Amino acid sequence: MSGSVSQSGKKKRLLAPREEIAWFPVIESELCNGCEACADFCRPGVFEPGQADLASEVVRKPKMTVANPYNCVVLCTRCEPVCPSGAITLPRRKAFEHFVGYVD
Ligand code: SF4
Ligand code: SF4
Repeated sequence: MSGSVSQSGKKKRLLAPREEIAWFPVIESELCNGCEACADFCRPGVFEPGQADLASEVVRKPKMTVANPYNCVVLCTRCEPVCPSGAITLPRRKAFEHFVGYVD
């Protein structure tokens, strides 16, 4: 998302169209317990619960999905530590820093 504010107080500006920047979380489905902590935390609405497994005899919460990957704020990693299962990973920042400029 362009126009967000960095920790240094400067505004972030993307130097390429958002759809050309593959920065978004990946969920390891086997580890996800469907707790929704990530969806509650992420303001841009990147996450949405998937389909319930109706074939299963055990009632489980649906696994989380990355429904809107390009809503993810480039260089944000804040949901990674929020997941109690360690199911969320984001790319390494270093490979993406050249996509972001900062303006006063
Ligand atoms: S990295 Fe930030 S913007 Fe992206 S999904 Fe996680 S909390 Fe949302
Ligand atoms: S916080 Fe982790 S375990 Fe909970 S729904 Fe999100 S990805 Fe799944």
